[in-house]
Amino acid sequence: MKIGLEVHVALPTHSKLFCSCSTEDADQPNTNICPICMGFPGSKPSLNKEAVRIAKSVSKALNCKINQSISFVRKTYFYPDLPKSFQITQLAGSIGIGGEIKLSSSTVRIRRIQIEEDPARIIRESKYTLLDFNRSGIPLIEIVTDPDITSEDQLREFLSVLRSILYYIGVDIDKEMKADLNISLGENRVEIKNVTGIKNLIDASRYETKRQGEIIKSGRQPEKETRSYEEASQTTVSSREKETDEEYGYIYEPDLTDFSVSGLEIKEDVFDARQISREIADKYSLDYKTILELIALDKDALNLLKHGLEKTNLKPDLVLNALEAKKRFGNAVNEKSLVLLAGYIEKGIQIDREIIKKVENGIPPAEDVISDEKIDDSIEKELSSSPDLVERYKKNPKVVDFIVSTISKKYGIPQKKVAVRIKDILAKYIK
Ligand SMILES: [Zn+2]
Repeated sequence: MKIGLEVHVALPTHSKLFCSCSTEDADQPNTNICPICMGFPGSKPSLNKEAVRIAKSVSKALNCKINQSISFVRKTYFYPDLPKSFQITQLAGSIGIGGEIKLSSSTVRIRRIQIEEDPARIIRESKYTLLDFNRSGIPLIEIVTDPDITSEDQLREFLSVLRSILYYIGVDIDKEMKADLNISLGENRVEIKNVTGIKNLIDASRYETKRQGEIIKSGRQPEKETRSYEEASQTTVSSREKETDEEYGYIYEPDLTDFSVSGLEIKEDVFDARQISREIADKYSLDYKTILELIALDKDALNLLKHGLEKTNLKPDLVLNALEAKKRFGNAVNEKSLVLLAGYIEKGIQIDREIIKKVENGIPPAEDVISDEKIDDSIEKELSSSPDLVERYKKNPKVVDFIVSTISKKYGIPQKKVAVRIKDILAKYIK
């Protein structure tokens, strides 16, 4: 089996790729729009440098060669979501070329990372097709891999590694991710278009693997075709053939000049949660997988983990347990309360919502409850080792107050608790 992906992810910019319209979610359709992102004739795009900077960061993080001078092309097709009849995208002048992601037992090559604009959103009502241009012009990157994935486990691992790397650059794969999946078990390549989200991608690949496997078993070959994924039935169905590359009629985009990316600073360090997890696990003898699960998609957890291990005297496994409790109950813990939470765990107290609430309010674990037995033992010990106290009491019962306060101080037991038990025990000594 060979699987290749084309993953489209939105870039976290404030404005769109070729105009200054906001990328924020709007309450009303067609409010974040202008002649440029609606594709009016004569409107001219101008490039959003922040989108290019983020795309450059992604390219670096995925070990691509970065094209120092990028260019754009027009990909022509006729569809209601694209009134100017072409999408501005990249080909030879793509920002990133020839990278890779290393997995635990294989490598997935990245063919290309390109910047492109999202088309409008199509909403189909019973008798109408509605268009919302708020999405039109949102900056996307498309990450194109070679068909190097050979199993469902590898697909799963690739997506989780990619998700974590993008997360640390500020790109959220869960927000809006669409992917085209190429799968071939036999001689012909089958493409499944526009699969949204990681779960659907894995489900689509599982179904398609089974479908193609059965065709091959029966002695035939799966057809070369384009299919679409039906989420409700978790199946793929044959769909209208889309245009071929020739039909897209790519031409150079004359409204955008070649753009030099050398001046764009990559602020984020390339971050591989796997490497950091390995380092922490080795240094403190902790479980690698537990750490990776905690920090892969959680900057706060990473900072808390480092803070807890470097700046406090907490035992490493306590810090890890505290962070796992944090994960279970949401974002209830900050740096200050990490120590408190670890304190509860150290005392063997089961962490639940109530404890998390106490931690949030800065309440430390209560002092150990002193058992009656311990109180009695302490009183006995004191009376037997100081017979003079008993003698004084015999002569003057008011001495009891002095005895109570002495025992309370010496054994760290509240006076009230000593007072409750003292008379019964004294009675034994007086007999
Ligand atoms: Zn606009």
